[in-house]
Parts: sequence; C-alpha cells; structure tokens
Amino acid sequence: MRTPFDPELLYVECAKCGQPVLWSPGDTTRILAWAGIDASTLDEKCMIVSEGCPACQPGQKSFSTQVVRLRKSPEQKAAKSAAPAN
Ligand SMILES: [Zn+2]
Repeated sequence: MRTPFDPELLYVECAKCGQPVLWSPGDTTRILAWAGIDASTLDEKCMIVSEGCPACQPGQKSFSTQVVRLRKSPEQKAAKSAAPAN
C-alpha cells in the first residue's frame, strides 16, 4: 500500500498570469471534489492550473481549474543517456 497523496501539496498555478496561486488550507481538497476529480488518482507529478486567480482577475470568485500531469523530469533522461554504454 502506498501512502495516500495529500492533494493539499499540489502546486497551483494561474494560467493567465503564471503566478502560483495560494489557496487556503482545505481549498484544494474541496475544489477537486467540486470538480469531480478523484484526489486518490493524483500524485506529486500533478499540478493544478487555474484559469485566472484573484491577483489578475480581482472580483471574480471562482475559477475553472484543471489537473495537469507533469512528464518525467528531463534530468532523468539526461542521466540515462550520459551513462557509459557497455
Ligand atoms: Zn492570475
């Protein structure tokens, strides 16, 4: 059994201004549930993109969000190709 991932640890970025979006504790879990996303399918390779944030769209209270799964880090690929070939 792997440890359940805490969705509160997900990084949230605004798609409009590119700034990290800071939600209150509990907001991520609530927003995922509201969006019908099963938090148990997420892990640390996922991030949330918000279509706007209070910083660039003041006055707007809700923003549509989507979960993006990051690709494997390029560092890992580079390390593999740099390994000596026997
Ligand atoms: Zn923004």
